[in-house]
Amino acid sequence: MEKISVTHELTCKKEYDIIVAGGGVAGVAAAITAKRRGKSVLLLEKSNILGGLATLGLVNLFVAMCNGRCKQIIFGLADEWIRLAGKYGYETISEHWRDGEPKEMITRRFTQRFSPYIFALQLTEMVKEEGIDLLFDCIASEPVMEGNHCKGIITESKSGREYYKAKMVIDVTGDADILRRSGMPTVSGRNFFSYFGFGITLESCKKAVETNNIMNAYTGGFAGGTIGLYGTGQPEDVPLYSGLTVEDVSDYLIRNQTTLLDRLKKDDPTSRDLTTIPLMPQFRTTCHIDGDYTLTMDDVYKHFDDAICAINDFDHRDVLMEIPLRAITKKGFDNLLTAGRCVSSEGYAWDMTRVIPPAIITGQCAAETAALAIDTNTPVAEVDIKTLQDRIASDNIMVHFPDEYLPEDTTHLEYAGDPNHK
Ligand SMILES: Cc1cc2nc3c(=O)[nH]c(=O)nc-3n(C[C@H](O)[C@H](O)[C@H](O)COP(=O)(O)OP(=O)(O)OC[C@H]3O[C@@H](n4cnc5c(N)ncnc54)[C@H](O)[C@@H]3O)c2cc1C
Repeated sequence: MEKISVTHELTCKKEYDIIVAGGGVAGVAAAITAKRRGKSVLLLEKSNILGGLATLGLVNLFVAMCNGRCKQIIFGLADEWIRLAGKYGYETISEHWRDGEPKEMITRRFTQRFSPYIFALQLTEMVKEEGIDLLFDCIASEPVMEGNHCKGIITESKSGREYYKAKMVIDVTGDADILRRSGMPTVSGRNFFSYFGFGITLESCKKAVETNNIMNAYTGGFAGGTIGLYGTGQPEDVPLYSGLTVEDVSDYLIRNQTTLLDRLKKDDPTSRDLTTIPLMPQFRTTCHIDGDYTLTMDDVYKHFDDAICAINDFDHRDVLMEIPLRAITKKGFDNLLTAGRCVSSEGYAWDMTRVIPPAIITGQCAAETAALAIDTNTPVAEVDIKTLQDRIASDNIMVHFPDEYLPEDTTHLEYAGDPNHK
């Protein structure tokens, strides 16, 4: 096989305190939080809008941010954005949750379905109002490493290859692209055949008019692969996708797009239209770090001395967990860390950490850690935990869950669905 060697000499285009690689919800939260701590920030996004899976991926639902008994667990920017997301688009927060915790016990949890593209526009507005440098259509391609220290990021864009220096890099690509290439240990996952788009039908349009609610114009059923969270019904002839090679991603997209078209061919063309398909692969799990601590379901109800935030399960009442700093860092890598989908956790514990509300607040926690590490000239894994927790608490994030929220019996946990999600 022919081999070529490529050598590029790149001049540093600009230097930042913090580079945030990836403009999903975790990345935007990290960029805003770092900027509010007075840091210069470059936010790199490979697509054309912000929000990642929550917008491009059409996953337009803030899952529950409460313990299922009317106590809110997740605050911070997640609390601001769950409300903001309904400001210019449709809104589905239960009226009981609109002004804080419900006054009386209700079963309805604190969730919000939102218009993904309007929310994406709001994210762009926020990022620009904060004065963050944002580059769209720009891939964070390679970390420039000196041992385990990252000097900056090489980007690929219309401008070609460029080099940006940074004191800290937060990899929130969802795929740990930068951390994988930095040599940090990572763990890859497998994805079911899912590809859900939005469409309209004559029926759904009629319903929208009858209910005077445009949200009802969109309807499901416009899918390629239809396999949900627990993988039930995964077709035998379709592989489980890693999402980590160009061939794998392309096969996933081609199979899904042709499957969806085959379905559409069977319908009356005047009765419906496909309004949008996912603009990024709907992979839940591609790659996350093998950090200094890996969360499992054994950690439910555990307090950590180095907790950075408390989260709740979206599917089961009462289930609470704290995320330790060690789940977003790896000792020896002094200026690299992560958040969102790349947090070090496995099985169902990973499902708990990667959904939209925890992704937002772990993004904030990563930024607070990076900012403190710069202020104190300390590796990210060794920042003073008390100072960090104080800063995170000042962002209105719950660091430890209160023991009064624990159920009486914490020994019996049942998880529906995939038996691997223990
Ligand atoms: C099918 C499916 C259903 C889901 N359902 C729900 C749900 O109902 N509710 C819920 O809360 N969560 C749900 N989730 C999970 C949730 O959407 C995501 O885990 C969460 O949004 C992750 O946010 P993130 O910012 O960590 O990563 P991502 O959303 O993956 O964002 C990463 C961003 O980085 C960009 N990027 C990637 N690589 C690079 C690079 N090299 N350079 C520059 N930019 C890059 C991407 O374009 C993207 O914008 C679902 C996920 C899937 C796949």
